Amino acid sequence: MADSACRGRIHSFQSLGAVDGPGLRFVIFLQGCPLRCMYCHNPDTWDPAGGTEYTVDEVVKRVLRYRTYFGEDGGVTVSGGEPLLQAEFVTELFRALKAEGIHTCLDTSGGAFAEARREVFEALLSVTDLVICDIKFTTEEDYLSHAKGSLSRILSFLSLTQALRVPLWVRHVVVPGYTDSEEEVSAMVALARRYDNLQKIELLPFRKLCVTKYEALGIPFPCADIPECGEAAIARLQTLL
Ligand code: SF4
Repeated sequence: MADSACRGRIHSFQSLGAVDGPGLRFVIFLQGCPLRCMYCHNPDTWDPAGGTEYTVDEVVKRVLRYRTYFGEDGGVTVSGGEPLLQAEFVTELFRALKAEGIHTCLDTSGGAFAEARREVFEALLSVTDLVICDIKFTTEEDYLSHAKGSLSRILSFLSLTQALRVPLWVRHVVVPGYTDSEEEVSAMVALARRYDNLQKIELLPFRKLCVTKYEALGIPFPCADIPECGEAAIARLQTLL
């Protein structure tokens, strides 16, 4: 039985999203992220002390208002920020949602995975129906320089999803001049295909809709001078998948 009083810090809710997993989904954006991706769209989720605290019970009540829209394929996606930072809360939330017969999807960077807390993540994946994970860069150097993260940590998390047989979708943001070369996308595809639970790879174009968020926070946007990625570039790279 889920601990319905367990609390998590939440940035925001999106009642019905169509791009974060299959079907129509209630999306929960958690607060807090240890990475600093150069193109991050949600810098307002970084601070782990921000957002608002909710219990599992309060979140489930919100979700249930929308369940009739989920249909056969939809459900709930927990995104961020970085949901692995609040793995215990997400585990209790997913446990409660699964008890209601609702599909659960974890949209993560994998950046907060730690071998020392493996059992915590195993418990979370045991109640997760789908993992969506970004492979942002393909070398340790680029992960560190452009995301303040570690590729090996992300690959260890992906190995755990494979070991536990959780279906996996991989995403990659295409940033002109950084992650848009055929070599880079081919290297990302090769990394993703190491995992036999992989079901899908998605390329997402770099966009700059987040500029006003950076201005409001008084943080310089590292990608201010980089052009947005066009649909033609995505179509060209799509052939490599
Ligand atoms: S992992 Fe996501 S929320 Fe965190 S910095 Fe990167 S893009 Fe932003």
